[in-house]
Amino acid sequence: MSYNNCISEEYFRKFCNLQKEISACRYCQDDFGFEPHPIVFGNLNAKIMQISQAPSLSVHNTRKPFDDASGRRLRSEWYQISDETFYNPDNFYIVSVAHCYPGKASGGGDRKPPKCCADKWLAQELALVQNEIYILIGGYAAAYFFPGEKLTDLVFQDLEINGKKAFVLPHPSPLNIKWFRDHPAFEEKRIKKVSGIVQEVLGI
Ligand code: SF4
Repeated sequence: MSYNNCISEEYFRKFCNLQKEISACRYCQDDFGFEPHPIVFGNLNAKIMQISQAPSLSVHNTRKPFDDASGRRLRSEWYQISDETFYNPDNFYIVSVAHCYPGKASGGGDRKPPKCCADKWLAQELALVQNEIYILIGGYAAAYFFPGEKLTDLVFQDLEINGKKAFVLPHPSPLNIKWFRDHPAFEEKRIKKVSGIVQEVLGI
Protein backbone atom coordinates (compact mmCIF):
# COMPACT_ATOMS: atom_id res chain seq x y z
CA MET A 1 0.00 0.00 0.00
CA SER A 2 1.23 3.51 -0.72
CA TYR A 3 -0.02 7.01 -0.14
CA ASN A 4 -0.58 9.56 -2.87
CA ASN A 5 0.64 13.15 -2.85
CA CYS A 6 -2.69 14.52 -1.64
CA ILE A 7 -2.47 12.51 1.60
CA SER A 8 0.14 13.38 4.19
CA GLU A 9 2.49 10.72 5.48
CA GLU A 10 1.13 11.28 8.97
CA TYR A 11 -2.45 10.67 7.80
CA PHE A 12 -1.35 7.52 6.00
CA ARG A 13 0.48 6.25 9.11
CA LYS A 14 -2.61 6.89 11.21
CA PHE A 15 -4.63 4.75 8.81
CA CYS A 16 -2.06 1.91 8.80
CA ASN A 17 -1.92 1.95 12.59
CA LEU A 18 -5.70 1.80 12.76
CA GLN A 19 -5.76 -1.28 10.51
CA LYS A 20 -3.12 -2.95 12.67
CA GLU A 21 -5.08 -2.20 15.83
CA ILE A 22 -8.29 -3.61 14.33
CA SER A 23 -6.50 -6.78 13.18
CA ALA A 24 -5.15 -7.30 16.69
CA CYS A 25 -8.48 -6.63 18.47
CA ARG A 26 -9.77 -9.47 20.65
CA TYR A 27 -12.21 -7.34 22.65
CA CYS A 28 -15.18 -9.70 22.15
CA GLN A 29 -13.33 -12.97 22.78
CA ASP A 30 -15.01 -13.72 26.13
CA ASP A 31 -18.42 -12.88 24.75
CA PHE A 32 -17.94 -14.98 21.59
CA GLY A 33 -16.34 -17.90 23.39
CA PHE A 34 -13.71 -18.25 20.64
CA GLU A 35 -10.89 -16.21 19.21
CA PRO A 36 -12.20 -13.40 16.98
CA HIS A 37 -10.71 -12.96 13.52
CA PRO A 38 -11.15 -9.30 12.59
CA ILE A 39 -11.52 -8.84 8.84
CA VAL A 40 -9.73 -5.76 7.53
CA PHE A 41 -9.56 -5.17 3.78
CA GLY A 42 -8.83 -2.17 1.60
CA ASN A 43 -6.61 0.81 1.06
CA LEU A 44 -6.96 4.36 2.25
CA ASN A 45 -7.81 5.53 -1.27
CA ALA A 46 -10.31 2.75 -2.09
CA LYS A 47 -13.02 4.14 -4.33
CA ILE A 48 -15.96 2.30 -2.79
CA MET A 49 -16.56 1.68 0.88
CA GLN A 50 -18.81 -1.33 1.21
CA ILE A 51 -20.31 -1.88 4.66
CA SER A 52 -22.24 -5.00 5.66
CA GLN A 53 -23.34 -6.67 8.91
CA ALA A 54 -20.58 -9.03 10.00
CA PRO A 55 -18.41 -11.76 8.45
CA SER A 56 -19.91 -15.25 8.06
CA LEU A 57 -18.40 -18.41 9.52
CA SER A 58 -16.91 -19.16 6.12
CA VAL A 59 -15.17 -15.76 6.06
CA HIS A 60 -14.06 -16.28 9.68
CA ASN A 61 -12.28 -19.43 8.49
CA THR A 62 -10.80 -18.13 5.23
CA ARG A 63 -10.21 -14.49 6.45
CA LYS A 64 -11.26 -13.36 2.96
CA PRO A 65 -14.30 -11.04 2.94
CA PHE A 66 -17.36 -12.14 0.97
CA ASP A 67 -15.68 -15.43 0.12
CA ASP A 68 -19.03 -17.22 0.11
CA ALA A 69 -22.24 -17.66 -1.89
CA SER A 70 -23.41 -14.14 -0.98
CA GLY A 71 -20.15 -12.66 -2.23
CA ARG A 72 -20.27 -14.56 -5.51
CA ARG A 73 -23.76 -13.25 -6.22
CA LEU A 74 -22.78 -9.72 -5.20
CA ARG A 75 -19.75 -9.61 -7.49
CA SER A 76 -20.87 -11.49 -10.57
CA GLU A 77 -24.65 -10.91 -10.70
CA TRP A 78 -25.11 -7.52 -9.03
CA TYR A 79 -21.95 -5.46 -9.60
CA GLN A 80 -21.04 -7.52 -12.69
CA ILE A 81 -17.32 -7.26 -12.03
CA SER A 82 -14.55 -9.84 -11.83
CA ASP A 83 -13.17 -11.25 -8.58
CA GLU A 84 -9.91 -9.50 -9.42
CA THR A 85 -11.64 -6.11 -9.59
CA PHE A 86 -13.59 -6.73 -6.38
CA TYR A 87 -10.53 -7.81 -4.43
CA ASN A 88 -8.39 -4.91 -5.61
CA PRO A 89 -7.88 -2.93 -2.37
CA ASP A 90 -7.72 0.31 -4.36
CA ASN A 91 -11.27 -0.41 -5.56
CA PHE A 92 -13.14 -1.65 -2.49
CA TYR A 93 -12.75 -1.00 1.21
CA ILE A 94 -14.71 -3.96 2.57
CA VAL A 95 -15.90 -3.58 6.11
CA SER A 96 -18.81 -4.52 8.38
CA VAL A 97 -20.60 -2.93 11.30
CA ALA A 98 -18.72 -5.60 13.24
CA HIS A 99 -15.37 -6.82 11.93
CA CYS A 100 -15.67 -10.36 13.29
CA TYR A 101 -17.96 -13.36 12.90
CA PRO A 102 -20.00 -13.28 16.13
CA GLY A 103 -20.96 -16.99 16.41
CA LYS A 104 -24.25 -18.83 16.01
CA ALA A 105 -27.45 -17.72 17.73
CA SER A 106 -29.32 -20.31 19.78
CA GLY A 107 -32.34 -20.15 17.44
CA GLY A 108 -30.24 -20.60 14.28
CA GLY A 109 -28.50 -18.05 12.09
CA ASP A 110 -25.62 -15.88 13.22
CA ARG A 111 -25.66 -13.78 16.38
CA LYS A 112 -26.18 -10.06 16.03
CA PRO A 113 -22.91 -8.19 15.60
CA PRO A 114 -21.59 -6.56 18.77
CA LYS A 115 -22.56 -2.89 18.86
CA CYS A 116 -19.26 -1.83 20.36
CA CYS A 117 -17.31 -2.62 17.17
CA ALA A 118 -18.75 0.17 15.05
CA ASP A 119 -18.15 2.77 17.74
CA LYS A 120 -14.70 1.45 18.42
CA TRP A 121 -13.45 0.97 14.84
CA LEU A 122 -15.87 1.72 12.00
CA ALA A 123 -16.29 5.33 13.08
CA GLN A 124 -12.52 5.83 12.70
CA GLU A 125 -12.44 4.12 9.31
CA LEU A 126 -15.30 6.32 8.12
CA ALA A 127 -13.30 9.37 9.13
CA LEU A 128 -10.12 8.28 7.33
CA VAL A 129 -10.93 6.34 4.16
CA GLN A 130 -11.02 8.56 1.06
CA ASN A 131 -13.81 6.70 -0.76
CA GLU A 132 -16.07 8.21 -3.42
CA ILE A 133 -19.28 6.32 -2.65
CA TYR A 134 -20.77 4.04 0.02
CA ILE A 135 -22.64 0.79 -0.48
CA LEU A 136 -24.48 -0.57 2.54
CA ILE A 137 -25.49 -4.21 2.51
CA GLY A 138 -28.39 -5.53 4.57
CA GLY A 139 -30.70 -4.19 7.22
CA TYR A 140 -28.19 -4.00 10.03
CA ALA A 141 -25.76 -1.75 8.15
CA ALA A 142 -28.66 0.34 6.81
CA ALA A 143 -30.05 0.82 10.34
CA TYR A 144 -26.65 1.97 11.61
CA PHE A 145 -26.65 4.89 9.17
CA PHE A 146 -30.39 5.45 8.75
CA PRO A 147 -32.02 4.47 12.06
CA GLY A 148 -35.79 4.16 11.99
CA GLU A 149 -35.96 3.86 8.18
CA LYS A 150 -37.25 0.73 6.44
CA LEU A 151 -34.67 -1.29 4.51
CA THR A 152 -36.93 -1.66 1.48
CA ASP A 153 -37.54 2.10 1.26
CA LEU A 154 -33.81 2.77 1.49
CA VAL A 155 -32.97 0.22 -1.23
CA PHE A 156 -34.93 2.22 -3.80
CA GLN A 157 -33.53 5.65 -2.86
CA ASP A 158 -30.40 7.56 -3.83
CA LEU A 159 -28.87 8.52 -0.48
CA GLU A 160 -25.93 10.42 0.96
CA ILE A 161 -23.51 9.76 3.81
CA ASN A 162 -20.92 12.38 4.71
CA GLY A 163 -21.84 14.30 1.55
CA LYS A 164 -21.05 11.28 -0.69
CA LYS A 165 -23.46 9.13 -2.70
CA ALA A 166 -24.70 6.08 -0.82
CA PHE A 167 -26.73 3.06 -1.90
CA VAL A 168 -28.39 0.36 0.17
CA LEU A 169 -28.64 -3.23 -1.06
CA PRO A 170 -30.55 -6.12 0.50
CA HIS A 171 -28.33 -8.93 1.70
CA PRO A 172 -27.38 -11.09 -1.33
CA SER A 173 -27.68 -14.27 0.73
CA PRO A 174 -29.61 -17.07 -1.03
CA LEU A 175 -31.65 -17.26 2.22
CA ASN A 176 -33.12 -13.84 1.39
CA ILE A 177 -35.22 -15.37 -1.41
CA LYS A 178 -38.58 -14.11 -0.09
CA TRP A 179 -37.46 -10.47 -0.23
CA PHE A 180 -36.35 -10.88 -3.85
CA ARG A 181 -39.64 -12.54 -4.77
CA ASP A 182 -41.61 -9.74 -3.08
CA HIS A 183 -39.57 -6.95 -4.70
CA PRO A 184 -38.91 -7.91 -8.35
CA ALA A 185 -38.14 -4.26 -9.22
CA PHE A 186 -34.86 -4.63 -7.38
CA GLU A 187 -33.35 -7.18 -9.77
CA GLU A 188 -35.26 -5.88 -12.81
CA LYS A 189 -34.27 -2.20 -12.44
CA ARG A 190 -32.59 -0.97 -9.30
CA ILE A 191 -29.53 -3.20 -9.31
CA LYS A 192 -28.80 -2.13 -12.90
CA LYS A 193 -28.50 1.46 -11.70
CA VAL A 194 -26.22 0.50 -8.79
CA SER A 195 -24.00 -1.71 -10.96
CA GLY A 196 -23.71 1.12 -13.49
CA ILE A 197 -22.54 3.50 -10.78
CA VAL A 198 -20.10 0.93 -9.37
CA GLN A 199 -18.57 0.41 -12.80
CA GLU A 200 -18.42 4.15 -13.47
CA VAL A 201 -16.66 4.83 -10.17
CA LEU A 202 -14.20 2.01 -10.88
CA GLY A 203 -13.62 3.30 -14.41
CA ILE A 204 -14.57 0.05 -16.17
S1 SF4 B 1 -16.08 -7.60 16.66
FE1 SF4 B 1 -14.89 -5.68 16.64
S2 SF4 B 1 -14.64 -5.11 18.80
FE2 SF4 B 1 -15.18 -7.31 18.73
S3 SF4 B 1 -13.22 -8.43 18.66
FE3 SF4 B 1 -13.87 -8.10 16.54
S4 SF4 B 1 -12.83 -6.22 15.93
FE4 SF4 B 1 -12.79 -6.27 18.18
